[in-house]
Amino acid sequence: MTQNSNLLKSGIDYPENREQFIDCFHNDQLCRDYIYNIRWPNGVICPQCRIKETPYKLKNNTLKCAICRKETSITLGTIFNKTRTSLTDWFGAIWYITNQKNGVSALGVQRLLSFGSYQTSWTLLHKLRTAMVNPERDKLSGLVEVDDKKDRKIVGTQRFKLLSF
Ligand SMILES: [Zn+2]
Repeated sequence: MTQNSNLLKSGIDYPENREQFIDCFHNDQLCRDYIYNIRWPNGVICPQCRIKETPYKLKNNTLKCAICRKETSITLGTIFNKTRTSLTDWFGAIWYITNQKNGVSALGVQRLLSFGSYQTSWTLLHKLRTAMVNPERDKLSGLVEVDDKKDRKIVGTQRFKLLSF
């Protein structure tokens, strides 16, 4: 993983194609390791004593601080926390969603991952959509260009003037 850059690189920091994806994330431990490396590229800071120490890794997704003995989960504070869905399914859904140009449906995710429940698929998709929104995003303003609307007979670029709020 790239340590000194905020820009993640395809094929290095995350898979570039389906073969690399399967190679990188074919079991939950690999997914957990990825989350760990993304969250703490420079070492874990204990949420209790705020000391940066290498914690003990315990079974069942927990870390234990070497100083204060506080146990914490690798997925605590993430959309994966306390999930009953496997991380390989979560990562599979993320891969699927981010590779679909026109969006996905809960039914599509249910079929892809062979979920028995539509509700599970809907909940997972809802959490992912919520997580993909940057809460600090700016509202669109000024002149905005919109492309890719050939099916609505808008060819090329059409310009829309939006009102500032
Ligand atoms: Zn601690």
